[in-house]
Amino acid sequence: MKRRPYIAGNWKMNLDRAGALELARAVAGELSDLSDRDVTVFPPFVYLSDVVRALQGAPIRVGAQDVCDRKAGAFTGEVSADMLRDVGAAVALVGHSERRHVYGEGDELANAKLHAALAAGLEVVLCVGETLEERETGRTEEVNGRQLTRGLRGVAKHDLARVTLAYEPVWAIGTGRNATPAQAGQVHSYLRGVVAALYDDPAAERLRIQYGGSVKPENAAELLSTPDVDGALVGGASLQAGAFVSIVRFR
Ligand code: PEP
Repeated sequence: MKRRPYIAGNWKMNLDRAGALELARAVAGELSDLSDRDVTVFPPFVYLSDVVRALQGAPIRVGAQDVCDRKAGAFTGEVSADMLRDVGAAVALVGHSERRHVYGEGDELANAKLHAALAAGLEVVLCVGETLEERETGRTEEVNGRQLTRGLRGVAKHDLARVTLAYEPVWAIGTGRNATPAQAGQVHSYLRGVVAALYDDPAAERLRIQYGGSVKPENAAELLSTPDVDGALVGGASLQAGAFVSIVRFR
């Protein structure tokens, strides 16, 4: 099955307002004719409204890097899925490695956040990935399978259409060391098999799985033409318009 490529840029906690607008406008200027692939950028929360406005009319959607698992109320410092929708975000990133490993968030919280985002009408990019120690001790499939299964707990098949998966090996994020196409392809195909077992083959065939971890213009084409790799979640390289555009336009 041919799946439409999906490339996303995670800006993390970088840029100021002027820099975010400049980057958004530069990317929009270069991608105005894009029609055969999907693109989302994930700016910091405080610049979401500005970036949504800057990208109006461009074939680029805006997403949030995180979302609260609760609907509303006394949750100081949190941002709800309804608020994200309200300012024009269309997607939420859930379970990013930095949320899991810097802030100690687990699968149950990722699952609750995913449900909160879907309930508010957002799409979700659910991230999974093993640490170097887990890979070196032969637990890559076990860890990714568990994060995926727990992350998707309670998600109905019809809602899976609003979920994209991102396989992001922790050892490859921000390190300059990407997974080889073979390593990525192997885990993506395993994850697709897990989804087939949880749902069915057509649902698994439709699901897009992005690879994330030191994707750059130099390795994008090879990684993204690997079977079962349907796109990329890009961190560092998404902060430079030229690099991000060249990854989006991979051939
Ligand atoms: C990420 O933040 O999801 C990521 C993959 O970062 P980088 O591309 O910098 O490794």
